[in-house]
Amino acid sequence: PEPLLEIKQLKKYYDVKTGWFQPKEQVKAVDDVSFTVYKGETFGLVGESGCGKSTTGRAILKLQELTSGEIWFQGENIADHSYEKMRKLRRKMQMVFQDPYASLNPKKTILQILTEPLRVHGLYSPEERVQKAIEILEIVGLSEYHLHSYPHEFSGGQRQRIGIAKAVILQPELIIADEPVSALDVSIQSQVINLLLQLQRDFHLTYLFISHDLSVVRHITDRVGVMYLGKLVELAQTEELFANPKHPYTKALLSAVPITHPDEEKERVILTGDVPSPLHPPQGCTFHPRCPDCMMICKTEKPPVVDVGNHTVACHIYST
Ligand code: SF4
Ligand code: MG
Repeated sequence: PEPLLEIKQLKKYYDVKTGWFQPKEQVKAVDDVSFTVYKGETFGLVGESGCGKSTTGRAILKLQELTSGEIWFQGENIADHSYEKMRKLRRKMQMVFQDPYASLNPKKTILQILTEPLRVHGLYSPEERVQKAIEILEIVGLSEYHLHSYPHEFSGGQRQRIGIAKAVILQPELIIADEPVSALDVSIQSQVINLLLQLQRDFHLTYLFISHDLSVVRHITDRVGVMYLGKLVELAQTEELFANPKHPYTKALLSAVPITHPDEEKERVILTGDVPSPLHPPQGCTFHPRCPDCMMICKTEKPPVVDVGNHTVACHIYST
């Protein structure tokens, strides 16, 4: 398979002040994350809230400045691209947000919302843009009838269909979807997921799918990366990851998901303690205070990322 997006040692650090008299401190929101997304696949990024998965997605689109690292997209490192160069590239990299309402201008009609990206990128004549808007509305399950309505006139599911239409109308290569169904009712979630899958087939899209919902991720992704406190701790094919998780954190996450097949035996791992503050992450392996398999070395040394067959995992169990 051909790589579309290659993230190398991506870092996003923030300076924060915890109090008036406190010195600035650093939060490592994304800390040395590397992975590759292949053309046509759906790559999932999972983890609890605050693990850095959204920040990673936003940093790739450069909606946020990165601290360091490389972002290779279609063979070009875009990490240091100027605003102007990025603006042109956004046609090929689009984002779908959790809350479509926040990304749809409430004062604009659906026609204006859908034709604007085409206009900004200088695509088509005004008449053709209207035609494109009608076509894409039908593709996402709405119709011409909705062209002159405003975002507030739609249900949550319909608004997400409009958000998706707005992303797809530019015929991008990559869509970064950040919790695209998390705000929707479960019954609507599967409809929107099926729409994403259908669009992927029809438009040869590649997805970076960010979610905390493991059942959704299992259903939609080809490969998955698991993040914990800003680090990628495990990466594998989706089936492999769910059948044979290696990292103690992944095991704990998966054991919290209801068993779907009766013959699926799982060792139950209970996650104890809260996620530590990213401001003062634990020494060594940042998961060690919660890890049932913690060893001496884990408290002082960061685990290296090791390759264990079809899997990469950052844990001392596999490196010693
Ligand atoms: Fe647990 Fe140690 Fe592996 Fe970290 S490195 S996950 S503490 S066994
Ligand atoms: Mg998030």
